[in-house]
Amino acid sequence: MLYSQLYIPTLKEKPTEAEVISHQLMLRAGFIRKLTSGIYSFLPLGVRSLRKMEAIIREEMNRAGAQEVLLPALQPAELWQESGRWEKYGKELIRVRDRHNRDYCLGPTHEEVVTDLLRHEIRSYRQLPINLYQIQTKFRDEIRPRFGLMRGREFGMKDGYSFDRDEEGAGKTYQKMFEAYQRIFTRCGLQFKAVEADSGAIGGSYSHEFMVLAESGEDAILACTACSYAANVERAESIDRFQADPKEERKERQKISTPAQKTVEEVTRFLSIPSQRLVKTLIYQTDQGPVAVLVRGDQEVNETKLLKVLDTQELNLADEVTVQKLTGAPVGFAGAVGLSLPLWADHTLTGLKNFVMGGNEADIHWINLNWGTDVAIPRWADLRLAQEGEPCPKCQSPLKAFRGIEVGHVFKLGDKYSRSMKATFLDEQGQEQFMIMGCYGIGVGRTVAAAIEQNHDKDGIVWPMALAPFQVLITPVEWSSGSETNQWAQAIYEELENKGFEVLLDDRPERPGIKFKDADLIGIPVRVTIGPKGLAEGIVEVRERRTGQIQKVLKDQVVLIIQKLVSEALNY
Ligand code: ATP
Ligand code: MG
Repeated sequence: MLYSQLYIPTLKEKPTEAEVISHQLMLRAGFIRKLTSGIYSFLPLGVRSLRKMEAIIREEMNRAGAQEVLLPALQPAELWQESGRWEKYGKELIRVRDRHNRDYCLGPTHEEVVTDLLRHEIRSYRQLPINLYQIQTKFRDEIRPRFGLMRGREFGMKDGYSFDRDEEGAGKTYQKMFEAYQRIFTRCGLQFKAVEADSGAIGGSYSHEFMVLAESGEDAILACTACSYAANVERAESIDRFQADPKEERKERQKISTPAQKTVEEVTRFLSIPSQRLVKTLIYQTDQGPVAVLVRGDQEVNETKLLKVLDTQELNLADEVTVQKLTGAPVGFAGAVGLSLPLWADHTLTGLKNFVMGGNEADIHWINLNWGTDVAIPRWADLRLAQEGEPCPKCQSPLKAFRGIEVGHVFKLGDKYSRSMKATFLDEQGQEQFMIMGCYGIGVGRTVAAAIEQNHDKDGIVWPMALAPFQVLITPVEWSSGSETNQWAQAIYEELENKGFEVLLDDRPERPGIKFKDADLIGIPVRVTIGPKGLAEGIVEVRERRTGQIQKVLKDQVVLIIQKLVSEALNY
């Protein structure tokens, strides 16, 4: 491809609206343009990288036995009502109405559509397993679209859905998809971790997220420094290092004046107690009304865990007025003694004795409280946020915190959709059974953006070979027709093209400095510089974008050298 024939509108200035580097660089290097919040156009270079990502996904999905389909983006409300998600999906679902006043949505995901398809097709266990995928545009009215392609409202996703006869089969399919995902992200040249995850609005019992490690990532991960345990913080567990003394005698409870002592720090300092002896009482608003949630002073509530345990959609910390109304005290003095709200407590509080809580009166705390006698026995659950440094739940080595970008997600769905939508088959005994499902997503644009987050320098993008819009850029330092430079540039270009390489020839009548700047910004992995000085000695320069390393090579060996560089970089 000739540079002059391709629309590559590079920008000198850093775009002010772009917060993360991948967004900045995709705008500056002329890969994308914004239409409106969370909605982007792909320009020629952007499309090329996107298509390469898609091709890798296709190859690995096909290799793992999944079959490509293409499902409608416009989906009737009835299907979503059947699964219960017309209500549950909330405001992220983009709803539209047709001329007959019938409701539809623009698909944010396709469990309903694919389950509907297969419940009409599959009759017998002989037709299972079946594993379908598509690469398609998804629509989600994200509350905070941001970071360019990372969190858009219209975005490309590979979504796959598997249907098996039983849990065992579904487990095997899950494992196959898990391995395919590992190959996909490895081929993209990404550093990533597969982590245990919460299954969110999609539902289901078991899931892993594939996280590209990057400072700008929206997700927090805890990973063990010794074993393979890694989990999204939303779900991570850890071993509690604090041990309550089992022999401690129960004491008599007592009210203590704690004027203006509200925070954990203030109260524990004032009473000279460790923060593990203080129990925090947090009042949350939920679908089912207010609840009180108890965690130890040194711990925080994990709202994702809480959401799940309470099975609620709404979960907000109550405001000051509500806290005052429900507890009789200002924020900072709430406690569970005599509180007539549903009580939930993190299970690390089970063995605690003689603890401290707010007195439900301004400037008052209780000391020496005990379960059963002073505070009603709450419902116990894992409600706390695991923290860096705490022991791993599997091997007890310390956990380490990372930031990550979720690029892929694999779920075991069980019969969640097949049961609500009655997708059944007849087994060998002629018994009707629900199909056991799995679903598997990859954000196409998000992965491309994540690759830039991990691969860039001050001059621009440093594409991993597999996702680069072109593998090789040829930069003649001058472009007068008939010159030796021109002839050699053309010859090398043609030979590389004929051999099947993706080559861009910078045929613009620009100064070398400008060409080099654009080259670095666009980030093509291999650059060949051709000029009269080198040619006089029969030499051209091959420069690697990642290392900046330059090899001077004989002009008739350059193709061989490039072949080696490209194939080494694509070796997976
Ligand atoms: P997130 O927690 O980031 O909102 P999710 O859990 O909602 O993601 P899934 O429903 O699992 O995402 O979607 C599968 C994949 O689609 C994700 O792993 C991610 O790569 C991609 N994805 C999800 N939402 C967006 C978005 N708004 N913009 C771009 N890609 C997205
Ligand atoms: Mg989401």
